[in-house]
Amino acid sequence: MKQIILTGDRPTGRLHVGHYVGSLKERVALQNSGKFDEIYIMIADAQALTDNAEHPERVRHNIRQVALDYLGCGLDPEKAVIFIQSTIPELPELTAYYMNLVTVARVQRNPTVKAEIQQKNFESHVPVGFFCYPISQAADITAFRATAVPVGEDQMPMLEQCREIVHKFNAVYGETLVVPEIVLASNKACLRLPGLDGKAKMSKSLGNCIYLSDDPESVQKKIMSMYTDPNHLKASDPGNLEGNTVFVYLDAFCQDAYFVEFLPEYANLDELKAHYQRGGLGDVKVKKFLNQVIQEELAPIRKRRKHWEEHWDDVVEILRQGCDKAHAKAAETLADVRRAMQINYFEND
Ligand code: ATP
Ligand code: MG
Repeated sequence: MKQIILTGDRPTGRLHVGHYVGSLKERVALQNSGKFDEIYIMIADAQALTDNAEHPERVRHNIRQVALDYLGCGLDPEKAVIFIQSTIPELPELTAYYMNLVTVARVQRNPTVKAEIQQKNFESHVPVGFFCYPISQAADITAFRATAVPVGEDQMPMLEQCREIVHKFNAVYGETLVVPEIVLASNKACLRLPGLDGKAKMSKSLGNCIYLSDDPESVQKKIMSMYTDPNHLKASDPGNLEGNTVFVYLDAFCQDAYFVEFLPEYANLDELKAHYQRGGLGDVKVKKFLNQVIQEELAPIRKRRKHWEEHWDDVVEILRQGCDKAHAKAAETLADVRRAMQINYFEND
């Protein structure tokens, strides 16, 4: 069986370092591993519209930002098909058929849907399109026959629901769809990077982000104002690592080589943590080190991003070709689905 990746992001803002460690870094590694036959990376504009229907200009603007972030991170258009969701009409058609296989109660139980409804203060005003987005995500994944879906931890319930839809479809209409596997980052700190404010998740919608496109000065300012241990008032106080965002970020980004380069008095992160817990290590020193680490990680991304920004016409061409390739693939799957459902009325005419 072909090994195929499908994943994507909502163009609701520029991408941030949570996306980078949670999903983008893994995607680039998988892309360069040579283990995949096809890779599809989707800019999920239709999904972004489910909770931004009144702000299409915002979604349109952010398609550009997300495309630049992708190319900046090292997604390679020679190896990965980058496309825009709304250009593929097969996706809403598949969604419509899958809707008949899922109950309202099942979507209501989806923990990510529940959490997002609360976070967005929808209360009883949940748009139907938003409520159904787990189903449209199943359409996205299955349309490309994805075997692997590299995403952050918040997407686990979505993948679970997608797998259920695949099983149900195959049971009712015969083996047609491929069952996908989730691919999560192996580093625990990367699964759900907290926001600068210490909130559970760095998220475009919560405004607590370090963006991949932030300039070095803004990154430094954000890091220096980060949430740490509120009881660690003096450097001499013993510090707590639990919920300490600065150390979570170090867990996510730091490699031993950075100690050699920037903080040679410690061999590794364990030694730095032990000193912090003992007392005698100030937050400012740790934050300065984190700043050096993150700047080092972001520098090559910024450079590539700038290159593509200066060659925007080439990016448009990459997207245009990506949409064509993605369209052809989704059309093949839809034909199989229609055949399986016996709604291919005029196929042999
Ligand atoms: P929005 O608030 O608009 O939903 P978002 O920041 O949650 O934006 P998405 O576009 O929904 O971003 O998610 C894109 C991908 O990035 C998903 O695979 C998601 O799991 C992952 N991701 C998002 N935020 C984080 C985070 N803080 N840590 C790790 N992975 C994340
Ligand atoms: Mg999200």
